[in-house]
Amino acid sequence: MTARNHLPIVVVGAGSGGVVVASRLAEDPAISVLLLESESALGGSSLRNYMVGMTGMRDDYEWERDFGCAGWTWGSANKTFSAMPDILHDVQPHEAGQVDLALIDAAVGVGIPKIERIAHDTQSVRGAGFCSLTMRNGLRHSVLETYFAPLRTHKNLAVRTNAVVESVVMDSSRAVGVRLVGGEYVEARGVVVSAGALATPVLLRRSGIDRPGIGVGLQDHPSIAITLALRQPQRSSIRIGANIRLSSQRGSADIHLLSLNETNDSAMFGAVLAGVMQVHSRGEVKYDGSTGTGIASFNQLSDERDKAAMRDAVRFAYKLACSQSVTNIAGSLLSDAKGTSAKWINEATDDEIDAWALRQVGAYSHAASSCVMGRSDNDLAVVNERAEVIGYQNLWLCDASVLPRLPRANTHVPVVMVANRVSDMLRETFGELR
Ligand SMILES: Cc1cc2nc3c(=O)[nH]c(=O)nc-3n(C[C@H](O)[C@H](O)[C@H](O)COP(=O)(O)OP(=O)(O)OC[C@H]3O[C@@H](n4cnc5c(N)ncnc54)[C@H](O)[C@@H]3O)c2cc1C
Repeated sequence: MTARNHLPIVVVGAGSGGVVVASRLAEDPAISVLLLESESALGGSSLRNYMVGMTGMRDDYEWERDFGCAGWTWGSANKTFSAMPDILHDVQPHEAGQVDLALIDAAVGVGIPKIERIAHDTQSVRGAGFCSLTMRNGLRHSVLETYFAPLRTHKNLAVRTNAVVESVVMDSSRAVGVRLVGGEYVEARGVVVSAGALATPVLLRRSGIDRPGIGVGLQDHPSIAITLALRQPQRSSIRIGANIRLSSQRGSADIHLLSLNETNDSAMFGAVLAGVMQVHSRGEVKYDGSTGTGIASFNQLSDERDKAAMRDAVRFAYKLACSQSVTNIAGSLLSDAKGTSAKWINEATDDEIDAWALRQVGAYSHAASSCVMGRSDNDLAVVNERAEVIGYQNLWLCDASVLPRLPRANTHVPVVMVANRVSDMLRETFGELR
């Protein structure tokens, strides 16, 4: 054992990726782990997300074929998905909200087949079904309950909150610790950065890490709402309970329509969300060296393929929203927050829909792919297939930033899959060093 082996592996950020990697590493009593989180709450985005759990399509995970990430195939991803504790709760019809029920009825009414457990269906390119949620006994079941709680009493897993990491401290090209805001230095055997797709690139830049791909390639799923003015207030506690999977004219399983039973503004408004799931547009987290902060630009719908898929998604969403099942629960359909009637969509030209979509497009909060995994000889790759920052030692990334592209799924479950695989690799690495 070398002198540094007694030091902890420091994990920066206690979100979906960080909690999993810290907990899975600490399963090995010979590895000491220190998990640092900037705010008081552990769990990151998994504490406030909408709980929709989903795998995506098989092709989404062929990273060896498409990006040269050796060993990252659908087969290996599926092995990990299958080994993960299944904490998804399938929404039952009696729990669903009125928009969920109406949307599924509408879809079935136009011939879209019903799919049981659509969350786990990785092959059907067209179908309608109730969502599966990261819930147990009616309550949110985040990575904390699944991964962290069983390890809570393990002496080799330490946690500090209100610990904002300013930078990773490097000795030449080797990570040797982290510096906290306030100046404290924490020495480490190695550092795993799991600060999320928006913060990780900024932290790397602030630490002087020099890879051209840092921040480049940022993605999110674009989405647009057709708002439903409901006849009766929403009563179910399920926020999003139905998912319709469709294919655009040029894509495959590249559209999701989701039911929103209640908007942020009021229980008297719901929505049909039209989302493009196979995303080609890419943006960037730009680093401002003068302030040490970053600005994210997603560049949504900048790629013509995404624009075309969004046109199809909006037209599908409007068609279902006009069905009897939906108009039974909604008195009117609106296309913006000013209360404009959505009727114009029926006759709209492609250009009119594009212009509206560019004004209205919002994010799904699925930021990813800002420090992508790829081959070491690819300048735009930031980590190799073992999630190690290329050209550096003892420095790994484990969060949504490393996904080479967004899967056709909500991102929490895919990030947890990646974190499980990275944990296995790190445990192998540290085991070999003993
Ligand atoms: C509002 C919302 C709704 C969503 N809904 C869904 C959904 O329904 N289904 C789904 O699958 N996905 C959903 N997502 C997305 C999903 O939750 C995320 O993709 C996933 O949790 C990302 O995990 P992560 O580990 O990359 O980052 P995060 O979970 O965001 O974790 C990053 C952590 O790092 C910490 N951190 C950042 N900088 C520092 C620093 N300098 N020092 C110390 N700590 C730091 C942050 O505080 C945070 O806790 C949603 C996200 C949001 C925000």
